[in-house]
Amino acid sequence: MIILKSLDEVAKMRVAGSIVADTIDTVLASVGPGVSTTDLDAVAEAFIRERKATPSFKGYRGFPASICASLNDEVVHGIPSPKRILKQGDVLSLDFGAIWDGYHADSAITVFVGEPPTAEAEKLVRVTEEALEAGISQIRPGGRLSDMSHAVQQVVEGAGFSVIREYVGHGIGRNLHEDPQIPNYGLPGRGPELRPGLVVAVEPMVTMGDWRTRVLADDWTVVTADGSLAAHFEHTIAVTEQGREVLTARG
Ligand code: MG
Ligand code: MG
Repeated sequence: MIILKSLDEVAKMRVAGSIVADTIDTVLASVGPGVSTTDLDAVAEAFIRERKATPSFKGYRGFPASICASLNDEVVHGIPSPKRILKQGDVLSLDFGAIWDGYHADSAITVFVGEPPTAEAEKLVRVTEEALEAGISQIRPGGRLSDMSHAVQQVVEGAGFSVIREYVGHGIGRNLHEDPQIPNYGLPGRGPELRPGLVVAVEPMVTMGDWRTRVLADDWTVVTADGSLAAHFEHTIAVTEQGREVLTARG
């Protein structure tokens, strides 16, 4: 069941979104060689709590940390660890969520630790962000859900990369994950109509190689089955009367 939010609820999600955006800026300032992913998690949790919000992920289905930190062939859901020390050329995907006054916002970004390791890796990250922007550009009242999916897939496959199929975007609100599911592939013009008050998290996950994945023995970390590099970008977006509002937009 799709839950449409009132303007008051969207206003709360706007606050949650700004907290997430500011958390990302704060954590990115700490990214560098020699820093562990647990260090980044601590920076994020302290910042979210300082803003009187709660990390969405900590304790979610038993997830032990406030952010997901996924390196290189890890796609999503990497668990921060003091043993995961960032090094020059790592591809680092970070995922953030915060709850403010009962409402979630969710956003992810992929960055390099220092310089990109290869031109192809640089292209992967750029294309994944462009795919997210293409998906967002399809959000408007009267549009259809799969218009976003199709736009993402066109950008990704047009660049010679693959869209992860086993994990998808989602509605968001009082729960981190709500209906509808939003695949990053498919034909346009399908699925529910987009209406004001629908709030979605659009999140392309892209690999250089094959789209198939597997989950590591920690039961969380999703890696590409073929070991190829992956990237992930995500925003939380509200459908408005006028079009859309990216609630997790960074300054
Ligand atoms: Mg996320
Ligand atoms: Mg999400």
